Amino acid sequence: MIQYEVNRLNHDTARNPHPSHPHHHDAKGFVRAVEHASEERGLRLTPLRKEVLELIATAHKPVKAYDLLDQLREKHGNAAPPTVYRALDFLLENGFIHKLESINAFVSCHHPAEAHQVPFLICDTCASAQEVCDERVAELIEAQARAFGFRPQAQTLEVHGTCRHCRKD
Ligand SMILES: [Zn+2]
Ligand SMILES: [Zn+2]
Repeated sequence: MIQYEVNRLNHDTARNPHPSHPHHHDAKGFVRAVEHASEERGLRLTPLRKEVLELIATAHKPVKAYDLLDQLREKHGNAAPPTVYRALDFLLENGFIHKLESINAFVSCHHPAEAHQVPFLICDTCASAQEVCDERVAELIEAQARAFGFRPQAQTLEVHGTCRHCRKD
């Protein structure tokens, strides 16, 4: 099991509970992993797509589309919204990022090599988001849906609360 923690208050990678597993806490390593996965899958990671990915990866917390647009405009002067949204769609479709519907923001996925759906724990105090990397949760929902004769298309499970760093008790 791999745990990915995005937290602007504490970037202490020494807390990695599973040091034997590869981690992409550093944005560069993550972008390299996505480049590698894109090559293997024959996907075109264009300069803009890569740049959007880098911005999301270095944000250390979920980032909104208009913040990405602002950052791109600062660098390039002109960045049209549709191009940014298309880049986000590409990254989402291929499982390189996740969209957190409840806060309308994007986070990089810790497992760019595999498409997956995972629940997220979202801290309402520091706005960090953490993937719950336990496939049993998704499988359970899938099984329950099937039992009701329901065919699931997407799972969006977002748990709001206070993270361990923000808790005062
Ligand atoms: Zn993920
Ligand atoms: Zn927090």
